[in-house]
Amino acid sequence: MTLDIHSGPRAKKSLGQNFLQDKNIANRIVDELGITPEDRVIEIGPGPGALTHLIHARGPKWFTILEKDHHWASEHRKNPPAGDPELNVVLTDALLFPWENLGVGPSWKVIGNLPYNVASPLMWDILSRAPGLVRAVFMIQKEVGDRITAAPNSKQYGGLTVWLQSFCRPKRAFIVPPTVFKPRPKVDSAVLRFEPIPKHELDFDPASLSWVIKVCFQQRRKQMQTILRGYFGERLDEAFAAAGVLPTARPENLTPRQFQLLATTVKNWIPA
Ligand code: SAM
Repeated sequence: MTLDIHSGPRAKKSLGQNFLQDKNIANRIVDELGITPEDRVIEIGPGPGALTHLIHARGPKWFTILEKDHHWASEHRKNPPAGDPELNVVLTDALLFPWENLGVGPSWKVIGNLPYNVASPLMWDILSRAPGLVRAVFMIQKEVGDRITAAPNSKQYGGLTVWLQSFCRPKRAFIVPPTVFKPRPKVDSAVLRFEPIPKHELDFDPASLSWVIKVCFQQRRKQMQTILRGYFGERLDEAFAAAGVLPTARPENLTPRQFQLLATTVKNWIPA
């Protein structure tokens, strides 16, 4: 059961509210999460609940929804799905959620038809900061999905690609047309599934990686030697050799691994 969108206030553009109306597609999105009775699930932006009741019906161990819109949060409090698990409704901005609290051990899964205006920063945080995350499924604008799954040497390849592919393996599950939403967005959406890389396999410093990515992609048309000479100085050749980077390459030519190796050099050269 989904709450009645006509009973509520008008959809708010400022909160990226495009509500899914197609139960088949909603089921396919929830299927991608592969919910088991051991899972602890967090849904971001439930709105009237197109996904919420389907998630609950799959019987996770624990289920929390994070909603910034006061109206929809209180509607879910008043009309929770019957049976276990109890639905925890949190009225909050998901950007403020302490993702690092999803510790290793329990099986944490996060899902959402994300508000388009905060989708990128939300994914940037969740997928890098939640140590115990075992899977995430997000519906986002198709164009943003294309950037996330892009390969080096393409126009779509950028900072978001490098960052997310450093922490997880993203895969596009399927595309969703604008016709199944109310109100209709202008563009196609895509559902992506993310499998996090186990934390013990990550051998780079996230803060240094974030710095290198931002510095490089702010000047994506320049050569790597131009971008980083001021920082590495005389040790530029050494840094590039350690990462297998050509001085004349541009940021979009480097693999995520090469950015990680540059980040490690950055970290090691900063005196403690
Ligand atoms: N899940 C519903 C569906 O599929 O129809 C609604 C999806 S709608 C695209 C995005 C939802 O996220 C809205 O309910 C909106 O109020 C909520 N939202 C927007 N910004 C948010 C934020 N920063 N934190 C939590 N929820 C947010």
